[in-house]
Amino acid sequence: MVGVFALFTACEQEELAENKFSQNLVLADLNYLASDELRGRGTGSPEEAIAAEYIANRFDQLGLQPAGEEGYFQSFTKKPHPTVQKMNDGDSTRFGMGVVKELTGKNVIAKLENGSDSWIVIGAHYDHLGMGDENSLHMEGSAIHNGADDNASGVALMLSLAQHINDYVKKSNVLFIAFSGEEKGLWGSNTFCDKPTIEMSKVKYMINFDMVGRMNEENTLAIYGNGTSPVWNAELEKANADSLRLVLSESGVGPSDHTSFYLEDIPVLHLFTGQHEDYHKPSDDVEKINLKGMELVNNYTARLISSLDLVADMPFTKTKDEDNESAPAFKVTLGVIPDYLYDGEGMRIDGLREERPAQMAGMEKGDIVVAMGDLKVDGMQTYMEGLSKFEPKDTTQVKVVRAGDTLTVDVIWD
Ligand SMILES: [Zn+2]
Repeated sequence: MVGVFALFTACEQEELAENKFSQNLVLADLNYLASDELRGRGTGSPEEAIAAEYIANRFDQLGLQPAGEEGYFQSFTKKPHPTVQKMNDGDSTRFGMGVVKELTGKNVIAKLENGSDSWIVIGAHYDHLGMGDENSLHMEGSAIHNGADDNASGVALMLSLAQHINDYVKKSNVLFIAFSGEEKGLWGSNTFCDKPTIEMSKVKYMINFDMVGRMNEENTLAIYGNGTSPVWNAELEKANADSLRLVLSESGVGPSDHTSFYLEDIPVLHLFTGQHEDYHKPSDDVEKINLKGMELVNNYTARLISSLDLVADMPFTKTKDEDNESAPAFKVTLGVIPDYLYDGEGMRIDGLREERPAQMAGMEKGDIVVAMGDLKVDGMQTYMEGLSKFEPKDTTQVKVVRAGDTLTVDVIWD
């Protein structure tokens, strides 16, 4: 009995992976959402509203019902923190205390009801940095931040799955949410979790796509949140028919919208194909998207949610309290973008910010930080913890491995 059943699911899954990803449709969604016309989809901008309209239309075309507060939409109005703002005036960029204006953005929410008592939630944020805001890494004045990978890719993938959702999920209702305000600090997902349009206690799990368009040559897929349910590990493994290189990380708390659901005691996953040098820059464009990679993520997720459809019980587990760990109070930074997909010893640098301590000390992309002062850095965690031990203006000897050689550089913290 078990054997026959297993065979049946194996065939069904085999079939799923084929021909259910339309490169043309995904590319059309990417091209539109990341076009200059939408001027970077900044939260509260007229172009964010146009993007919302586009996504609502796509949901409608796919036969999904509205599940917001007003049709497909759920609006929110929030005030950015009155911290340092990056201000673009003319050609120059400066930092200062900007005038803080309230912004109104909206989530776009659709559902497929299967007459079930349980729900699964699939989400992706569609807002980005507009012409460049305080989160931009672009230093040369204002420019359209197209956000093809961040996160037109996630929205396009969500729509791709939505198209065939009937084939994957039969035993739960499905809610699709395109969040806004993510880049401002998870505003959209916080709003949804404060004022959910479905019963949150009925949500079996939530999957978040944020930056899924730049899979590397090793077919690496980072999956965050595998500690949020004991069910995840076996299922994540089982869905991996294409032998992706999975990099798993337990925490349910991370820099994207799944965090809001994790904090409601819901098992979550964040799928992510990794950092790159176009991150939060105007050069995050559609030409650089790896469509074949998106297809792999699409098929992986399709297998995963199909298999989970047969799992009746999905207990939630809290992951180690990351509050202090993921955001230790540090006064200094190196000014680098860590390579989050690197799982060897140390912290590998994926990008450097101009005129910040690492770059000033002569560190390079690809360098692996293995020690800072007396502290041995064996991974991201010790790197982050290590930063809390230094003071601005101090000089610290940092050991890096470059092409097999160990070098020591003097870092002056700023
Ligand atoms: Zn982002």
